[in-house]
Amino acid sequence: MVKPRLVLVLGDQLTTEIAALRAADKARDVVVMAEVMDEARYVPHHPKKIALVLAAMRKFAAALEAEGRQVAYARLDDSDNAGSIPGELLRRAEAFEADEVIATTPGEWRLIEALDELPLTLHQHPDDRFLCSRSEFANWAEGRKELRMEWFYREMRRKTGLLMEGDDPAGGNWNYDADNRKPASDDADPPEPLSFAPDDTVDQVLDLVEERFGGHFGDLRPFGFATDRKQALKVLDHFIEHGLPKFGDYQDAMLSGEPMLWHAVISPYLNIGLLDPLEVCQRCEQAWQDGKAPLNATEGFIRQIIGWREFVRGVYFLEGPDYARRNALNHQRGLPDLYWGGETRMACMAEVVAQTRKYAYAHHIQRLMITGNFALLAGIDPAEVHEWYLSVYADAYEWVEAPNTVGMSQFADGGIVASKPYVSSGNYIAKMSNYCRDCAYDVKAKSGETACPFNLLYWYFIDRHRDRFEDNPRMKVIYRNWDKRDEDDRAQILREAEAWLDQLSKGKTV
Ligand SMILES: Cc1cc2nc3c(=O)[nH]c(=O)nc-3n(C[C@H](O)[C@H](O)[C@H](O)COP(=O)(O)OP(=O)(O)OC[C@H]3O[C@@H](n4cnc5c(N)ncnc54)[C@H](O)[C@@H]3O)c2cc1C
Ligand code: SF4
Repeated sequence: MVKPRLVLVLGDQLTTEIAALRAADKARDVVVMAEVMDEARYVPHHPKKIALVLAAMRKFAAALEAEGRQVAYARLDDSDNAGSIPGELLRRAEAFEADEVIATTPGEWRLIEALDELPLTLHQHPDDRFLCSRSEFANWAEGRKELRMEWFYREMRRKTGLLMEGDDPAGGNWNYDADNRKPASDDADPPEPLSFAPDDTVDQVLDLVEERFGGHFGDLRPFGFATDRKQALKVLDHFIEHGLPKFGDYQDAMLSGEPMLWHAVISPYLNIGLLDPLEVCQRCEQAWQDGKAPLNATEGFIRQIIGWREFVRGVYFLEGPDYARRNALNHQRGLPDLYWGGETRMACMAEVVAQTRKYAYAHHIQRLMITGNFALLAGIDPAEVHEWYLSVYADAYEWVEAPNTVGMSQFADGGIVASKPYVSSGNYIAKMSNYCRDCAYDVKAKSGETACPFNLLYWYFIDRHRDRFEDNPRMKVIYRNWDKRDEDDRAQILREAEAWLDQLSKGKTV
């Protein structure tokens, strides 16, 4: 008899189109899926994130069985669960007398290395859910002095034909950001996000997660995530109808009590395989062609997916396994407790952390210009920042989280993802949000008792990293402005910034 092969399907590979399933023989092979402790707690994941993945895995396994596949599924609380992916593969290899594994390359170096070490014959297939393969990205990057997303994005537009009119971009421009990024007014009326009442599978998972991971940062209930493809497609349709038309305009806006605004909230589904990036973009393009969404919004949205999402993945794999540990600016401060919900007087930080706890979600500008900006200005160790982002967001997987955090947000890769550090004073936050209105600090005060910490820390950052950034063409004007200021003023700001950071490090409420 021909031996069966084990077909590994990981928790973020939940599509029948995944390469390993395509390569498998339905009649011969056994699909291996496993809920394992090693994956659930290598960082303290938000309970909502764990519940999403486990519920979606269980439903996907049931769908595979319904189409006639043999599935060996391990539940987290099974008494013989081996606790790790390699352990589960070895256990199943013995049970089915199999010695070959068919896998789709995992999205994380840690697991790639673990599979490579297995004493089984491994047939690894590239993860072709992405538009740009690892080798294609490496070829594109080869010989370039710097990697810029915008140039990569244009290649992806040409490759996919999305928003193209022949060889030219639709409407004549590649990028419509000049029309985007408006602040939202207090009476803005964003669409209600779609939410799904837990069914029996989800309910069981919620009980399990509560029991095992109830101590992790984050609210498990209420739980309304989509947990299968049908539901995820509903979220996409809902976004295209209600969110996309204003996505561009308010992409960077932040409003207290409105965490999602006109964002799609589809990254958790894209990243585990319930939605396909190309289908998402094609549906958005169709909405534009049908006159249901403007070009600035459609282009801006598609750029995030075929541009940024593909670009950061390319960088993650190009740069190698040490990427997440880089610390180009040598920042060493520990992550303050306020990231885990500790008290703070900064209204913007309190708002974004509270919403993260509740929803396992924050939109891009909240991640970049509030929590990320603060960590960078305060000189927090990027490895700790990375671990926080990887833990608390429902969409966080290392291939996408690390380049965004370590690279774009913390400049810890020395400028591979970002050409200059994303830092700002309170001014930007005041312009793009209404957070400052209810803050104990005064965003207009540049120094003194009530000065907004972002104002103090901004100049402190600029001053202490002069050697690295002074000659950056995009930052010269910042240094000119700093140097023009009165010497006493500068000294006072630096002194106050240090005193403020000292309070932060001592665990005082700041
Ligand atoms: C510090 C930091 C950490 C981040 N960590 C993650 C992460 O772990 N996982 C993750 O998917 N995204 C991450 N992002 C990117 C971005 O914030 C999220 O993709 C986005 O907020 C998801 O919400 P949404 O679906 O409503 O996105 P929308 O704003 O509606 O955008 C649509 C889609 O575009 C894609 N996208 C947008 N920006 C990016 C980007 N910079 N990189 C990759 N894809 C992008 C996402 O798939 C997203 O679903 C991070 C950004 C920062 C600054
Ligand atoms: S004043 Fe400063 S700390 Fe307060 S909300 Fe505004 S930017 Fe944040």
